[in-house]
Amino acid sequence: MCYDVGMKEDRAERRERKRAARAAKQKERIERHVVVCPHCGKNVLDHMTECPHCKGALQPAGYRPVDPAKYKKIKLICTAVGIAVAVAVVIVIFVTR
Ligand SMILES: [Zn+2]
Repeated sequence: MCYDVGMKEDRAERRERKRAARAAKQKERIERHVVVCPHCGKNVLDHMTECPHCKGALQPAGYRPVDPAKYKKIKLICTAVGIAVAVAVVIVIFVTR
């Protein structure tokens, strides 16, 4: 009987430890995205575009405005590659007939 209760307690304790570990992991994950607002010095999350405390503009991490010249170049390359692939497919279709 005493043994049974001990087992149950052990399980509850293990579950509690698991829950605490999960909570700690989640906290760590959130803290990785915490940055300091350059306007008011309070903690904000790195994806925010506006500080919730002082409404100052923030530069979100992972977002960089695309350079228009670079964008044009990438678009041109993609168009050229697309045309080349289309021509290659057409040639393959006509040659293999
Ligand atoms: Zn702020």
